[in-house]
Amino acid sequence: MKVIQMSAGFIPQEVIDEIAASADIVDIIRNYVPLKKAGRNFQGLCPFHHEKTPSFIVSPEKQIFHCFGCGVGGNVFSFIMQADGLSFPEAVQKIAQMVGVTIPENETSEEERRLRAKRERWYRINEAAAQFYHNILLKTKWGNNALAYLKKRGIDDATIHKFQLGLAPPDWSSLLEFIGKKVVKHQ
Ligand SMILES: [Zn+2]
Repeated sequence: MKVIQMSAGFIPQEVIDEIAASADIVDIIRNYVPLKKAGRNFQGLCPFHHEKTPSFIVSPEKQIFHCFGCGVGGNVFSFIMQADGLSFPEAVQKIAQMVGVTIPENETSEEERRLRAKRERWYRINEAAAQFYHNILLKTKWGNNALAYLKKRGIDDATIHKFQLGLAPPDWSSLLEFIGKKVVKHQ
């Protein structure tokens, strides 16, 4: 299945409108429920509750569905959301595929790119700091005492590794120097 690329599920309204205009609710719901023409509407057995006589109605004019048995209803998007257990953007994506409408990739603004680069840089710095302190715990003379203390408290190697436990050395600038070398020069 194609992963949805839209950040925060954002799909431009005009694209949603285009998909809604291309998707006939009767055609879409027919993929899930057999429908029979009944006057101006179509009817079938409700997919959302168990029933023997059809009380599930689809209106091609209004492009909505409604069940007189259990009360569910809505448009083509809410049908797919409920039938497939999808979020709204996922339902839009699915219907777009069914009717052959392409959802354009989100245009990434200069501002978004700059923020993302900044965020990634902070993650790298955070990762490097964790690794730095972790190594001090495992590989230095200060670390030996701290390790002995952790063992005494019942914290085993697996836990130390899993949570990347670390130890700050007794000075003020070693992390800064380490980070300066490791991260900044890669910018
Ligand atoms: Zn129903």
